Amino acid sequence: MSKRDHYEVLGVSKDASKDEIKKAYRKLARKYHPDVNQDDESATEKFKEVQEAYETLSDSQKRANYDQFGHADPNQGFGGGQGFGGADFGGFGDIFDMFFGGGGSRGRDPNAPRQGADLQYTMSLAFEEAAFGKETDVEIPREETCDTCDGSGAKPGTKPETCQHCGGSGQMNVEQNTPFGRIVNRRVCHHCQGSGKIVKDKCTTCGGDGRVQTRKQIHIKIPAGVDDGQQIRVSGQGEAGVNGGPSGDLFVVFDVRPHKFFERDGDDVYCDVPLNFAQVTLGDEIEVPTLHGNVKLKIPAATQTGTTFRLKGKGIPNVRGYGQGDQHVSVKVVTPKKLSDRERELFKELSEISGNSLNEDEPDNLFSRFKRAFKSDS
Ligand SMILES: [Zn+2]
Ligand SMILES: [Zn+2]
Repeated sequence: MSKRDHYEVLGVSKDASKDEIKKAYRKLARKYHPDVNQDDESATEKFKEVQEAYETLSDSQKRANYDQFGHADPNQGFGGGQGFGGADFGGFGDIFDMFFGGGGSRGRDPNAPRQGADLQYTMSLAFEEAAFGKETDVEIPREETCDTCDGSGAKPGTKPETCQHCGGSGQMNVEQNTPFGRIVNRRVCHHCQGSGKIVKDKCTTCGGDGRVQTRKQIHIKIPAGVDDGQQIRVSGQGEAGVNGGPSGDLFVVFDVRPHKFFERDGDDVYCDVPLNFAQVTLGDEIEVPTLHGNVKLKIPAATQTGTTFRLKGKGIPNVRGYGQGDQHVSVKVVTPKKLSDRERELFKELSEISGNSLNEDEPDNLFSRFKRAFKSDS
């Protein structure tokens, strides 16, 4: 048997993109999948061929080798033509799950335990809450196993019956005669909706679903140092499992609100402090607000606007426990807008001595922001 070209098998051009190759593969694998073509030997052969072509062309290294050496590539395990390691179909369930979401896999038992779905909850946090963490209760809407019927969906005292149409498998073979022969398709049994069971007397609490929509209160510990967009997993607090399977997980995603005065980058905190001309010229000792309370900061004489001071360890605790960030304080010199007569006099005198005019622009609301930051932190 001469081996067909991999590109030809997938029906793509030699310069096809990874995406095109993937698309072509999915389409063909679905068409020739052994679960869909149970009595068709040639489909199985085709499926193997498609599988092998994809395995080579989806891997950049293997594809490059193939482009250079063709099927003779010494690096390829299945260079001989038949290849695929005498495949049995044991592993194909995975591929099938990928296409059909697990619903139609061969031999899948509808009564087997399945894990419940994961849930995601977005929590809004203040800047300080993210920095220091907190414990809180949240109400999560989720599906839980119905207590009345214990998840069976049947009225207490009764039991669900095995679906006679599918024999409890939840699936039915649908035969079709086509010009190419008989094709057997596997479909979800519409009598029992794939559950394999029929509930005659439905539980009135859940209406036969075996599951009810509830709001569950969950206690959440937010670690100190979480940042915007980060998430924590609360194990087992997702939706209830099916047929006694484990519950899914709850993922809490944090949405951290900005601060009036501080900005954050990782574990470090940034802020601007407004100083007047005399303070930066002569030097001063000021108090700076931090997340950990006010801190004294010495401003040396002749400090320029834009100079940054680092307050070590005054930032945010690292969420993984690796120490603590710093606070970076940037000096902004503020030009006075209103002067008393005496001040004007002195400035004029100063100007005459130094021969310079004192002209600087400055964002005007900085001072008020600074003041408010002091207030909220006291
Ligand atoms: Zn119920
Ligand atoms: Zn059925």
